Amino acid sequence: MLPIATALALPAAPATAASGDPPEWTQPRPPLHLLGPITYVGTRGLGAYLIRTSAGAILVDATMAENVPAIERNIRSLGLKLSDVKLILVSHAHFDHVGGLERMRRDTGARVLAGSGDVAALRSGTPPGETSYGVHRFPAVSRVSPVADGERVRLGEVTLRAVATAGHTPGCTSWVMRVDDHGRPREVLFAGSMTVAGNRLIGNRRYPEIVRDYRATFDRIERLRADVVLPMHPEAADVFSRERTGTLVAPRLLGDMARAARADFERTLREEKR
Ligand SMILES: [Zn+2]
Repeated sequence: MLPIATALALPAAPATAASGDPPEWTQPRPPLHLLGPITYVGTRGLGAYLIRTSAGAILVDATMAENVPAIERNIRSLGLKLSDVKLILVSHAHFDHVGGLERMRRDTGARVLAGSGDVAALRSGTPPGETSYGVHRFPAVSRVSPVADGERVRLGEVTLRAVATAGHTPGCTSWVMRVDDHGRPREVLFAGSMTVAGNRLIGNRRYPEIVRDYRATFDRIERLRADVVLPMHPEAADVFSRERTGTLVAPRLLGDMARAARADFERTLREEKR
């Protein structure tokens, strides 16, 4: 342990561990079975979901670099080997969701799939747009395959469909799958982020279509049907309390989230214009 004076004199933390990040982003928690083949394996504040199939497992998001050991522990505690993870699906190329991706890719040997608009960012380790909080880099991902809107990804008996939900990043992707929930079919959406979260909306030279993309995504999400919403920031849909109270199935939630995100986006845009 360093004396405090020495600690204060140290240079700023590396880009992957910004001191202003919510502490729950890096607080481990045990896995939580949600429904059907889906188990939450992320930290208290950053979503990572494991989907088990007869041909191995699919991981949705790897979160931050420092979370990889906790997520790997969670996967192993379910009786799986890391090499059982065959696919990693990416929500979007921001450090809090992909900082641990390259390490997770190497540890599992899984194939990584991401929305085509974020692939260059993933390969370079530089996020794909301008923000008010500066450039927050992450370890470059050496192997990643692009997926297009509507593309289907299959492993064993599980099929997921990519739904392009651009705006938050150009390649921000949500993933839809059908789950058998005790004999009842449920549409589950792993929802990409819809928040502005510091994105520059006006004069974003690295992402000039940002405003148009956000609005198209809100239009699209409001028309989409999902019985269960599993976001990459679990509190955005109260995942843990819904699991506790048996209210994960909430068909109106997605529309409510999209309308709230749209209102917040339009308000932020007006403020930026001033
Ligand atoms: Zn983000």
